[in-house]
Amino acid sequence: MEEAPLPDYGGDGVDYSYLFATNEIIDGFENAANWAKQVAIESGFIFISSSYKTTQKDGRKYHYLKCDRGRRENNCRDPETAKRPNTKSKACGCRFMIKCEQQRVEENNWVIELLHDRGTHNHTLIVYPEGHRGVSGLRQGAKEVVREMNDAQAKPKNIMVAVKNKFPDEHPNMRHIYNFKEKTRREGSEGRNVVEQMLHLAREHDYINWVSCSDRTSKVINRAFLAHPAIVEVLSTYPLVIGLDSTYKTNRYGFPFLEIVGVTPTNQNFLIAYAFMKDETAAS
Ligand SMILES: [Zn+2]
Repeated sequence: MEEAPLPDYGGDGVDYSYLFATNEIIDGFENAANWAKQVAIESGFIFISSSYKTTQKDGRKYHYLKCDRGRRENNCRDPETAKRPNTKSKACGCRFMIKCEQQRVEENNWVIELLHDRGTHNHTLIVYPEGHRGVSGLRQGAKEVVREMNDAQAKPKNIMVAVKNKFPDEHPNMRHIYNFKEKTRREGSEGRNVVEQMLHLAREHDYINWVSCSDRTSKVINRAFLAHPAIVEVLSTYPLVIGLDSTYKTNRYGFPFLEIVGVTPTNQNFLIAYAFMKDETAAS
């Protein structure tokens, strides 16, 4: 069948179907489609799945995933009632699609098949504001939400739900949330690593701190001791019972973590100080 040449909206002529080349057998169409949709978003376009049920002659089901700009221009919604003024997803007749195919009639195993004559887009791909596509995956508004909730110590999965509710057009995944969290944490600590940041905060909040290095030149910390000033006051009031205990293998440096605990006459415990040590020698 002869087809009319497509109008061009800045397509680069690259066959992008290779992005979806996989020999993987995927459990269920949903999972196959979700994977492909995520790859598409990270590459700068959006997939929609064909809604009609389709079955091949041998009874195996299949679905096409099509570029969302493939809708024909003249079946567009009435511009006055259109709710999404999103010019990026304006339909332009793009023909990019891939095929998801059930492997055997009796099983729910799916494979992805590339359609090489349908591998190019006739439009520019979305370039995310950061300049590298899909690395962040979050737009400004969503980032604000992540930042605020992160500051309020919200769990990533709750942040995810909030972003999805507030920005139904965003397509974040957990990786985006974690990456952004990590980025804000690094910004907050101004380039200090975890240990430097801990000591920085301790000094900023007037903790009594005592750090020793293995020698003067190497800057390798082998002991760090921290105590909150208010607690030292409490300790001077109730100095009678003090417990010490350390736990092992709970931090990434493999240092024992020592807690020093005091007991009040009302049988309540209070944490006096904690310390990281290289070993449990008397010197430490
Ligand atoms: Zn397209």
